Amino acid sequence: MTDNEKLAELLFGDTDKTVEYFEEKYPPRQLPEGARVTRFAPSPTGYLHIGGLFGALTDILTAKASGGVSVLRIEDTDKKREVGDGLEAIIDGFEAFGLGFDEGVTGIGSQKGDYGPYIQSERLEIYWAVAKRLVSEGKAYPCFCSAEELDGLRAQQEKEGAAFGGYYGKWAKCRNLTYAQIEEKIKNGEQYVLRFRSEGSEDKRIVFDDIIKSKIEVPENVIDEVLLKSNKIPTYHFAHVCDDHFMRTTHVIRGEEWLSSIAKHIQMFKACGFRLPKYAHTPQIMKIDDEDGAKRKFSKRKDPEAAVSYFVKEGYPKEALIEYLMGLLNSNFEDWRRANPSADVFTFPFNLKKMSASGCLFDLVKLADISKNAVSVMKAQTVFERVYEWAEDYDAELYRLFSLDTEKAVQILNIDRENPKPRKDIAKWSQVKDYVSYFYSEIYEENYSLPQNINARDACKIIEAYEKIFDVDDDKQLWFDKIKSICAPLGFTENVKQYKQSPEEFKGHVGDVSTVIRIALTGRTNTPDLHAIMRILGDGEVRTRLARAKKAFMEEI
Ligand code: GLU
Repeated sequence: MTDNEKLAELLFGDTDKTVEYFEEKYPPRQLPEGARVTRFAPSPTGYLHIGGLFGALTDILTAKASGGVSVLRIEDTDKKREVGDGLEAIIDGFEAFGLGFDEGVTGIGSQKGDYGPYIQSERLEIYWAVAKRLVSEGKAYPCFCSAEELDGLRAQQEKEGAAFGGYYGKWAKCRNLTYAQIEEKIKNGEQYVLRFRSEGSEDKRIVFDDIIKSKIEVPENVIDEVLLKSNKIPTYHFAHVCDDHFMRTTHVIRGEEWLSSIAKHIQMFKACGFRLPKYAHTPQIMKIDDEDGAKRKFSKRKDPEAAVSYFVKEGYPKEALIEYLMGLLNSNFEDWRRANPSADVFTFPFNLKKMSASGCLFDLVKLADISKNAVSVMKAQTVFERVYEWAEDYDAELYRLFSLDTEKAVQILNIDRENPKPRKDIAKWSQVKDYVSYFYSEIYEENYSLPQNINARDACKIIEAYEKIFDVDDDKQLWFDKIKSICAPLGFTENVKQYKQSPEEFKGHVGDVSTVIRIALTGRTNTPDLHAIMRILGDGEVRTRLARAKKAFMEEI
C-alpha cells in the first residue's frame, strides 16, 4: 500500500462504496443522439429569485427541445444559507408557474428518477467515495490550518506582494505533510478540511467554449480548493463535479457568477477522470432603476419583484409571466408566437445559442402588456375561476363578494369580452377588485367629480331627464337612442362630428352626456360598456344611484 492509499483508508475508513460502484449504479443514460440532460440546482434559501425561474425555464426548454431530461437538484450543503422551509418556496414557485422537471425533487419529501437522491445532503457517500479515490491517487490532502492561520497567510501574502491570495504553492502549508505527520494530527483530534491538490500553473491559460458566452480564455487554477469541509460536507465546487457526473448531466446551465470558477471545475473533472459537461453561463436579469434610470441587478431588499412569490401574490397569470420570460430568453419567440398563437409554450424550438450573452432587461410594463393581452382573450368563466382561486389566498374580501353570487361575477367579467376586440384592462388578479368595485355596494366608492367641460347644473339636468326615460330592459340600440334623445333639449348634440365642427354652438356632445350618467352610476369616467353595466346593476340600483348623483350635483350648484 502506498502512503496515499494508507491516507485514504485513514481518512475514509468507513467509506466502503467505491467510484466504480457508483459508475455502475448511475450508468450513462440511454437517450437519443443529441438529447440534453440539464439540471436546475437551487439552494433552499426560502426564496425563489426571478432569475431562478428564468434559469429553470432555460433548463426545462433545453431538455424538452432536444428530447432530453431536466432535473431539479437541491443544493443544501451550505447550512448557513439554508432556512427551515426553504424548499417550499422553490417548489411552490415552480408549481405556481406550471414548471415541472422530468426528474429530481418533486415536492417536500418526494423525489423521482434513477439518478437520485436529488438532495445533496443525501448524497454524502458519493462525495466521500470520490474524495477517497482522489486521496489515494495523491490528488487531495487534509489541511489542518485554522481560520486564524489562514487569515495570517493572507496578511503575509499581501505583505509580500503575492500575485493573488489563497492556499496554493509554497503557501499551502499542509500540502506536503507526511503520512506520519497527518496520522499524528488526526490522533490528536485536530480538525481538517480536504483540499484538492492543484496541478495548475500560474502562467498557463485554458480556453473553453461556453455555449452562450462563446470562447473564453482564463488562467489555470492554482488554488488548492477545499473539497470537503471539516464536517465532511462538500463545497459547491466538489458537489457540482460529482453530481453532474453521476447524474449524467450533459449541459450545465448556470448563472454567469460561476464563470470565474470554471478553471477549477475543468481541472477537477479532469482529476476525477470524469467527462466534462458542456457549460452555458446565463446572463443576469437586470432592471432599470426607478430613481436614476441606470441598468442594475435586482436587489432582494429593494425590489419586491425580485421574488417569484411577488408575481403570485400580485396575481400575474402564470402564462403571461412565462410568455414574457420566453421573449427574454430567445428574441425570436415573439415571431414564433405570432405564427403559432395557441401552441404550447414548451413546443417552442428553444435554442441556448440564441440567448443574449450580455444580460437582459426585465420590464414590468412590458410584462403588464403581455398579461393584458393574455387575460383579454380568456373566457369570462376562466378569468372568474382564476381570480376566485387567487382571491381565496390573497383577498378575502373579494373572495367573499364573488361567493355571494358567482354567476354575477362571471357576467361582470364578461362585459366587453369574448368578442373580436376585447378590452385590455386587467394585467393581474389583484386589479380585479378595483375593476369590479362599483358592482358591489360594500366597496363601491362614489365619486361625482365632473370633467371640466360639464357643470353641475347640466349634470343635474341630464340625470333628471334620463331618469324619466330609463328602462333597464332596453336593448343596446334603444338604450343609446334614449341617451341621444336627451341631448338636444339640454343644449348638447348627439352628433360628435357636428360638435367638433362648431363647438361654440353646443354645451357638449352625446359622449359628455353618457359620461355624466357613467359617473353617476360608477364613479368613473372610463368603464366597459355602460349598457351592460346597467343591466347587471338592475333597475332598483340604477335608480338609487341616479337619485344620489342628482342630489350630489344639486348640492354643488
Ligand atoms: N446552488 C448553486 C446556486 O444556487 C447552483 C449553481 C449551479 O447551477 O451550478 O447558485
